[in-house]
Amino acid sequence: MSGKKILIVGAGFTGAVIGRELAEKGHLVRIIDSRPHVAGNCYSERDNKTNVMVHIYGPHIFHTDNQQVWDYLNRFAEMMPYINRVKTTVNGQVFSLPINLHTINQFFKKTYSPEEAKVLIESKSDQAIENPKTFEEQALRFVGQELYEAFFKGYTIKQWGMSPAELPASILKRLPVRFNYDDNYFSHKYQGMPKDGYTPIVENILDHPNIKVELGHDYQEQDRQGIDHLFFTGPIDSWYDYKYGRLGYRTLDFEKFYSQGDYQGTAVMNYGEEKVPFTRITEHKYFAPWEEHADSVCYREFSRKCTAEDTPYYPIRQMGEMELLNKYLDLAEKEKNMSFAGRLGTYRYLDMDVTIAEALDMANKYLETLDNSSDMPVFTVNVR
Ligand code: FAD
Ligand code: UDP
Repeated sequence: MSGKKILIVGAGFTGAVIGRELAEKGHLVRIIDSRPHVAGNCYSERDNKTNVMVHIYGPHIFHTDNQQVWDYLNRFAEMMPYINRVKTTVNGQVFSLPINLHTINQFFKKTYSPEEAKVLIESKSDQAIENPKTFEEQALRFVGQELYEAFFKGYTIKQWGMSPAELPASILKRLPVRFNYDDNYFSHKYQGMPKDGYTPIVENILDHPNIKVELGHDYQEQDRQGIDHLFFTGPIDSWYDYKYGRLGYRTLDFEKFYSQGDYQGTAVMNYGEEKVPFTRITEHKYFAPWEEHADSVCYREFSRKCTAEDTPYYPIRQMGEMELLNKYLDLAEKEKNMSFAGRLGTYRYLDMDVTIAEALDMANKYLETLDNSSDMPVFTVNVR
């Protein structure tokens, strides 16, 4: 089998992992990205005033239960132990997240045991909601009105620009409620932070003689000439020039500021109240507790509707967007010699570990189709 000519649009984790897998099997891979850097939204760089490693497109913590993904990552990264412990400020008080025994005891000014707290929360929860469908129903069912209003309602309105009664329960299901003092934000087996940020991981993945990377290069039709297969990791609606309209996203604005010494004493401080216009403040030096920095750089994070000029961050996936998505999927499923992948290509919120797992799977499927002369699917996951 001679080496195939592969074009990959997007040098984030998706593009890099697919490219590496195919390059290692002797295929010739060209990866282009319109941005001047690799790593997509996981891009990190040192702040030139403080030398602190900053996650430019928002805070990224690696967490996974997937052994294969963890092993893959560790081939290319030096991971440092890191546990994300998020705090939230509400009504002039700081609480621990995700909601745990400390949060419950602080909030209700009690010293409950785990069993007592369970009984309390059960008494507060709306037992009439049997099968919660919306974010609000999920919250009322599992934590009750007071905790919902303090910690979730205002934050979610700011984050998503709509009432939690309009959002799916799945968004809240990402967060656990614990009846012990475990304040680890994630429940996964592996969690860590790359010693030198995320950018060198992606650079290492891309460091292969069969991979050529071109940055600052927006995809153009002529890029496809002579190409055997194209993997597109940009927005699926952009591939079709938004002919049916734009898929809805939330975008983020970051207000950067400096502080002498420490600012907030932790990496992520959420702000639960709607009247505070930002959702959270990230103090980046706390992502690297093994480093020492006298001063600090922080990002205040504001969420708003994404316009044509903005970077798309969070896919909204409301009913209207899903109808639009289905129209694009109908077109996409007819494509030949191309596949859509990643966060933007499939219009789904994907954590980094899922991104890597899906990219590995897509590369394997492509290699299998070469072995048995079948057609490569346009999608390797169900995106509808
Ligand atoms: P991207 O990183 O978006 O890469 C796609 C690339 O394609 C981009 O670089 C873009 O410039 C390029 N591109 C698009 N169109 C074109 C075109 N026409 N021509 C050329 N290039 C193009 N995950 C976690 O696991 N933990 C976290 O803590 C976490 N925090 C997050 C916080 C925020 C604020 C956000 C938004 C995401 C977070 N994620 C987190 C998810 C993580 O960012 C994604 O899993 C990951 O970036 C997906 O990689 P990707 O390659 O699919 O997409
Ligand atoms: N959320 C909230 N209050 C918080 C943190 C999160 O209401 O203090 C909600 C919010 O709607 C968010 C969702 O829970 O979109 C999932 O939270 P997560 O921290 O996973 O958000 P992400 O990492 O996607 O920003």
